[in-house]
Amino acid sequence: MSFLIAEVIVDVSTYHVDRPFDYEVPTEWVNIIEMGCRVKVPFGPRNVLGFVVGLKNKTDVPSNKLKSIAQILDIEPVLTEEMLSMAKWLKNETICYEIDALQVMLPSALRAKYEKIIMMQEDKDALPEEAKAIFGKRQQANFKEFERAELLPLLKQLITNKIVKIENVVKQQGNVKEIRMVKISDKQQDISKAMEGAARAAKQRQLIEWMGRHLGEVLLPQRIYEETGASSAVLQSVIDKGAAHFIQEEVYRDPFTREVSRTQSLQLTDEQHVALKAIVGSMEEQTAKTFLLHGVTGSGKTEIYLQAIQKVLDEGKEAIMLVPEISLTPQMTERFRSRFGEMVAVMHSGLSVGEKYDEWRKIQQGKVSVVVGARSAIFAPFTNIGLIILDEEHESTYKQEDSPRYHARDVAIWRSEFYKCPVILGSATPALESFARAKKGVYSVLSLKQRALHQPLPTVFIADMREELQKGNRSMFSEQLIDAIRVRLEKKEQMVMFLNRRGYSSFVLCRDCGTVVQCPNCDISLTYHRTTEKLKCHYCGYEERVPQICPQCQSEHIRYFGTGTQKVEEEIYKLFPEARVLRMDVDTTKQKGAHEEILQAFGEGQADILLGTQMIAKGLDFPNITLVGVLSADTSLHLPDYRAAERTFQLLTQVSGRAGRHEKHGEVIIQSYTPEHYAIELAKIQDYEPFYEREMFLRRRSGYPPYYFVALVQISHEDVMMAAEYAGRAADWLRENLSNQVAIIGPTTASISRLQNRYRYQCLIKYKIEPNLIPVLQRLLAMYRAEWIKQGILMTVDLDPSTI
Ligand code: ADP
Ligand code: ZN
Ligand code: ZN
Repeated sequence: MSFLIAEVIVDVSTYHVDRPFDYEVPTEWVNIIEMGCRVKVPFGPRNVLGFVVGLKNKTDVPSNKLKSIAQILDIEPVLTEEMLSMAKWLKNETICYEIDALQVMLPSALRAKYEKIIMMQEDKDALPEEAKAIFGKRQQANFKEFERAELLPLLKQLITNKIVKIENVVKQQGNVKEIRMVKISDKQQDISKAMEGAARAAKQRQLIEWMGRHLGEVLLPQRIYEETGASSAVLQSVIDKGAAHFIQEEVYRDPFTREVSRTQSLQLTDEQHVALKAIVGSMEEQTAKTFLLHGVTGSGKTEIYLQAIQKVLDEGKEAIMLVPEISLTPQMTERFRSRFGEMVAVMHSGLSVGEKYDEWRKIQQGKVSVVVGARSAIFAPFTNIGLIILDEEHESTYKQEDSPRYHARDVAIWRSEFYKCPVILGSATPALESFARAKKGVYSVLSLKQRALHQPLPTVFIADMREELQKGNRSMFSEQLIDAIRVRLEKKEQMVMFLNRRGYSSFVLCRDCGTVVQCPNCDISLTYHRTTEKLKCHYCGYEERVPQICPQCQSEHIRYFGTGTQKVEEEIYKLFPEARVLRMDVDTTKQKGAHEEILQAFGEGQADILLGTQMIAKGLDFPNITLVGVLSADTSLHLPDYRAAERTFQLLTQVSGRAGRHEKHGEVIIQSYTPEHYAIELAKIQDYEPFYEREMFLRRRSGYPPYYFVALVQISHEDVMMAAEYAGRAADWLRENLSNQVAIIGPTTASISRLQNRYRYQCLIKYKIEPNLIPVLQRLLAMYRAEWIKQGILMTVDLDPSTI
């Protein structure tokens, strides 16, 4: 079937053009073009990148208006039909442009990059000497060349005088890397014939003879020189005689650094066995079932993933394994590589653009069957998926914060319905929403209540930092923690010290009684604004002056709270000059591979204490860790976010899970100024369900998810008055157009009230059922795109904000 007209989604997301445009397919391409190919098409004054999303034979566009496709960029489509329909779904689900949904599925190497090209319009004699030098013999030059030569004013003049013109050209990226290999003929006759031809050339005969023993092999020329001592001239002559030939082989930039040894499936525990059986059962039924694998830290969830994936591979299908970016450590990926070897592709942000593209190609070409990756790996271009896994499913990094604002969990479930395969959501501390869905029977729960090696969970102590202050201890270490560290140093056991620093906000805390000033309307901590010395609620806009004395106990020890890892490190050295500390935070892990080096050094016992932020909360599995210290549990507890308690509970459980995973018993010391807070008390007993019940009760009382849905509209502008005005207009408009069942809170300043020189306001929409929500928001966006954007306003809509 050949088609004459292509429907193309163009890469222009600033205008109001969120629909396919018809283009004529040039006759020489009618048999080549396919849905999912990238093309270059004329759009307005320039060529832009586009995706073919439909093919047909008729169009309503009059023939004098119909433009032709300028170029086809792919012979094989880069997007499958599944992906094209997924993009349509994403567009509605997250209210984004279809082009954004299409682009997010591709590695960045295949997304559009534009290059500014300067083209001659007149004869070159019209150019001044400096410009002539840049063009040389060419008819076009790069904008960058003018920029580098500091000739931009001259360029502008040339453009005004129409001597040259400037054009945006789509830059082709993502080159496949190829190398030249030698393929030895697989026919004995070719060898014999070459042998006859080389009657008197001893060296050639030697090489041909060797080739006769390696029929059909593909080798690097270098290997042949090394193995046989032949020179390149000899090899060339032998090739001329037909014993072998050169071929171009695609090579992948291999991001793996170390070799791994193979591992075998472990004998499952009873709990693991029950869980795996349920998962395999649903694979056999070919149903799209979502499992919530709720297992305490160290319960062997990963072994279940591995064996379920093995089953998928046995069936000739493919598996996607998602892990949060920060848990995507070499330790983690090696567990997969050592089980499945070359079948595994790894995708994470540490790879270069080229490496990412290569991993993507391996998947697309069916060279691998398993991908282990962070959020965006959910779009891996497999075509026969048998299983999708999200480990640590509660992690907020599974939600993308830019357009398209998708949640990997939703995409996973969508794809599982397409392929009729199971999804496993794994966690020791599931997201409240997930557990609620499981309770309703939407997901099936599989639970692992015991650690795989039957080690007891670590013992957790809470150190009350208010008492420490009363005793006169002003340091950030409680006496209990100091003693525990001393014992470990003597016994030469290892420790992890965790500094909880999440989010950007800061709050004001009374060091005597632990009071954190709350909004009288919202049950949310007030945020400290240093510039105005005020406390603000960014949910409702309430504000007050920073108190000089604690409103609860009248103490003067009330102040802004926050410490850096560097300061903690100094304090450790003051207390224990002999301790060896490794610090892991954004500063020490800037360089590629630094993360890995620090962990390796710690694993080899080169340090006693690993000190770090969120980065160390996950995935660490070292036998010698017997103590985990949490320096300030409160930091995440008082973030101005309705999920603050949930996040704190999750984090404390995760960090605690790092201790005593092997033979030696583990101990955890959590320091807090508010030890009576339920998130901390329940983290101490390490039991999820009581926490769940308590938190659900509070969510219902204050009307937050999962009882209500929330959507967030954010508006920013360089001018604070403009931002406030348009946020007000948006809020009014929403109030007019949504039913009165919906609560619209705001406009208020965003939690980060100013970012990159833009003032940020937001409106929060809370609702239970509102069938009109999406159409109303789409109309608001249309209004914004048509009018507001010209005033310098930027607006975003998030239907499932991970923080508000
Ligand atoms: P989780 O992912 O639930 O935190 P892991 O998969 O990391 O737990 O398992 C914790 C430890 O238990 C690992 O060292 C793992 O090798 C080991 N383990 C898991 N399952 C088994 C099993 N069936 N038999 C023996 N050891 C196991
Ligand atoms: Zn107080
Ligand atoms: Zn408030």
